[in-house]
Amino acid sequence: MMCDHLGTYSGASRYLREAGELRLVLLCDRCGAERQELGRVDYRPDPEVERARLAAGGAALGGPSAIALP
Ligand SMILES: [Zn+2]
Repeated sequence: MMCDHLGTYSGASRYLREAGELRLVLLCDRCGAERQELGRVDYRPDPEVERARLAAGGAALGGPSAIALP
């Protein structure tokens, strides 16, 4: 059965790791075909930053260095 793509669409995002971009697209709800590209956003997750943030958060939660003495 051919889909005429005349039903409803849903927004979705596709991450392009090689390009470091997030593509925002419209997908046909009936068959899942990509119907339109709405735009692209530069997106590069930085594992180093995430790790540093986690370490800092952990220290603030329970580390002795987080206790402020008068
Ligand atoms: Zn369709």
